[in-house]
Amino acid sequence: MKIPKRLNIFSTMYDVVMVDKLNDVDVDGEKYLWGSILYDDCEIRIYKAKDNSARDVQTLFHEMIHAIMNKTTIEKYISEKYREDFIDVLATGLFDTLERNGLLADGHCEAKTDS
Ligand SMILES: [Zn+2]
Repeated sequence: MKIPKRLNIFSTMYDVVMVDKLNDVDVDGEKYLWGSILYDDCEIRIYKAKDNSARDVQTLFHEMIHAIMNKTTIEKYISEKYREDFIDVLATGLFDTLERNGLLADGHCEAKTDS
């Protein structure tokens, strides 16, 4: 799957910025992160893994789930203590299901037949 440059999530348009250093993901440059989302700036930052595009996609899914949770009331049901683990499981499960069913490859929208 190609990482999009922009992503509309519940009518908010986020810029998706790929960065080369883990600490560039953090807006303050202090933490080493795979991804981050800046709600006020409508920006998702993702560390561009050198040889692991699957990680890029999983990180994008992780940040998308943050955005969805932020825009809905669901966030209040998941305590902050477990939130990152919860989001990681969802992102991994989403990625795994789409990957196993061939839905992440470019051009996946073509109709498939059994013949
Ligand atoms: Zn997170």
